[in-house]
Amino acid sequence: MGGFIRLGHLIMHEVCHHEASNGSHTHDEHFYREFHDLLQECLPGFVKDCVRCIPSAMETYGRRETKKMLAEKDKLERSSSRVAAAVTLP
Ligand SMILES: [Zn+2]
Repeated sequence: MGGFIRLGHLIMHEVCHHEASNGSHTHDEHFYREFHDLLQECLPGFVKDCVRCIPSAMETYGRRETKKMLAEKDKLERSSSRVAAAVTLP
């Protein structure tokens, strides 16, 4: 799951560069605010969607999920349930 988090950070970082950054690579306050907001809004869903795709991707390549992968998927589901329960409390 850590790999999906790092991948999400990288993609969202690049999304926040609205112009080519291969010359000078600077980040101003606007960049960091946009990056922060994008991570808050999209990273959890991105990671969850990646994890959900694992079974079909594994099947495509003739592989089975490992015990570690299944444990991480369970952990993610439990975390999502706790967050959902906390959000719905009065
Ligand atoms: Zn950058």
